[in-house]
Amino acid sequence: CLNILDFRTVNDTFGHHVGDACLRQVSERLQALQGENRLAARLGGDEFLVVAPHHGAIEAETDTLRALLEQPYSSHELDITLRFSMGVAASPQDAGNASALIQKAGIALDLARRETKGIVFYERKMEEAHLKRLSLLADLKAAINANDGQLKMYYQPKICARTLTATRFEALIRWIHPHHGFVAPDMFIPLAEQAGLINSLTEWVVAAVIRQLGEWQQQDFHAQVAVNLSAQDLSREHLLEHINTLLQRHEVKPESISFEITESEIMRDARAAIQLLEKFRAQGFHLAIDDFGTGYSSLSQLKNMPVTELKIDRSFIRDLEQDPESILVLESIIGLAQNLKLEIVAEGIETEQQVAILEQRGCDFIQGFYFAR
Ligand code: C2E
Ligand code: CA
Ligand code: CA
Repeated sequence: CLNILDFRTVNDTFGHHVGDACLRQVSERLQALQGENRLAARLGGDEFLVVAPHHGAIEAETDTLRALLEQPYSSHELDITLRFSMGVAASPQDAGNASALIQKAGIALDLARRETKGIVFYERKMEEAHLKRLSLLADLKAAINANDGQLKMYYQPKICARTLTATRFEALIRWIHPHHGFVAPDMFIPLAEQAGLINSLTEWVVAAVIRQLGEWQQQDFHAQVAVNLSAQDLSREHLLEHINTLLQRHEVKPESISFEITESEIMRDARAAIQLLEKFRAQGFHLAIDDFGTGYSSLSQLKNMPVTELKIDRSFIRDLEQDPESILVLESIIGLAQNLKLEIVAEGIETEQQVAILEQRGCDFIQGFYFAR
């Protein structure tokens, strides 16, 4: 099984007509290889399948295939290089029939893709991890639909450095699985993203947060809550409609909600992301760049982003006490944010000394285990 690495970027950068032309040329090259007992097919999207007899080393076969496929493609006067991930399974060792063989090659490809490896050969030990992911995913889907208390939102305060009050919070999802117990978001969020489940998870999160904001308002507690969004949420206009319906139902204002998007996710398709973020901003939602400093944003683009808040990544905080140079970096980030009129939140604050350093340097909000987990 073959998959074009990062094919989305080809479409986003050069347009779908160029992407389509590349897919056609990949097919032509694969077809040119066909011989006795050989078969090539497109499985869908950017995934292809090659069935080939092998006499001896499979590696020689796959090397030839890769060399052929990774020659530049030309379309609309552009030269485009594609990279491929491959998952390989062999019969009879790995599987005795066609559908099992395709499935095993798919498991190997899945791993190659996740670990951005060029090639992975199927091994039986991959099966267990794969099945576990599949079952975890099925469980997550069920948990979202059942809404039976397995999923819960926790609210970590962002403490205002000036007043030391907590009126802003970041909503963090928690999943207590009935058999496995606590499953970390760092584990299941990427899983949900890969499996196309993130949109319904985000809808669940947004609904829980807006309901909570409504309840707090009735108790006369007025807070601003930040929700984390994934890149895939940004390519979906429907999310905004869903949010607006919920806001009306619970009589919550857009100003009570902020959305956090990591720098690297915005950068994946900056133009499209900025377009949708502008719509959010125009409605009055607050927007934050999350994990700032880890995502290679171009500084010139930063000034065009409709964001209101910049969250300094934890990695810049960790060494503050030992390393004077990391204070310099921190000061430059704060200076940059101030010049762009963005509010600054530092996250991952664990010690009193870090708090003191950040307050002195003019950081607006401080978030971390030091104040509250
Ligand atoms: P993030 O957005 O950077 O969230 C901050 C993470 O840092 C949280 O981990 C939080 O518990 C942790 N943290 C807060 N203060 C400290 C501290 O002082 N020290 C240390 N070491 N850690 C601290 P968590 O909840 O495990 O979430 C991990 C990531 O999962 C989040 O990173 C976010 O990207 C994602 N995530 C969490 N909840 C959601 C959600 O509802 N939706 C989406 N799409 N992603 C979420
Ligand atoms: Ca966040
Ligand atoms: Ca963060």
